[in-house]
Amino acid sequence: MRVSIDKDSGFCFGVVYAIDMAEEILEEEGYLYCLGDIVHNDEEVARLKAKGLRIIGHADLPNLKNEKVLIRAHGESPETYRIALENNITLIDASCPVVLKLQNRIKTSYDDREKILIFGKHGHAEVIGLQGQTNNDAIVFQDISELEDVELPAKFTLYSQTTKSTDKFYSIKDELLKRGYEVKANDTICRQVSSRYEDLALFAKQFDRIVFVSGKKSSNGKVLYEVCAKHNPQSYFVSDLDELSVEMFQENESIGVCGATSTPMWLMQQVKEKLEGF
Ligand code: SF4
Repeated sequence: MRVSIDKDSGFCFGVVYAIDMAEEILEEEGYLYCLGDIVHNDEEVARLKAKGLRIIGHADLPNLKNEKVLIRAHGESPETYRIALENNITLIDASCPVVLKLQNRIKTSYDDREKILIFGKHGHAEVIGLQGQTNNDAIVFQDISELEDVELPAKFTLYSQTTKSTDKFYSIKDELLKRGYEVKANDTICRQVSSRYEDLALFAKQFDRIVFVSGKKSSNGKVLYEVCAKHNPQSYFVSDLDELSVEMFQENESIGVCGATSTPMWLMQQVKEKLEGF
């Protein structure tokens, strides 16, 4: 089989920044707390845990005092900063600048008394941080069908989680306008994700088969995999090497390996090596 890795796949700058920051402190101090998985990729999390990264949940934060805690690229809600201040916790803030800018825009809208809707995944860390800017007043939805039972204001501002699909965002905007609402729509989708659509579509078409490598919890992983599957129906979504078996492929096939903004290059490299060994 001929196997090639997409050179544009892999960590976005937000994830690189957070991981670099964590590794620097781990090297100096031997351990570091991190609020939630540093990246939605179990293999990369395991690699960093082996270096001393201690993943904690939000319920653990109030019990921690006088420690350093890393905030990952997804950002946090104001409540986290408040607890940190109270407990003398030093926050190592690796919130992605793109997410921080979006948090600020939502906060400004909220302070201007706009009604806010956020197109995002329920329970996703970034979305919780965004909603926190509005004192949890913003309406979050991940599918337009969820809005059918909700009484919406006649006029509102629409935002999006940074890793959502641009096509879906605009079709939601159009649908809401068609329903007669006055919608101020802000396309706040990260270009590190959306700019990959076109290149990934071209990449996916070049091969007999695609192996898309991503953690199952990654939002942009789902979106980018859909792009691959649309342009190459012979696409597999895999999270670790054990999910690959020789029966999935045929002799002399060309295989393209690609991944999400949370997929480490070393993992795609291991996938390539395994495929070449079949
Ligand atoms: S996908 Fe974009 S917003 Fe999210 S961490 Fe990466 S650069 Fe930041």
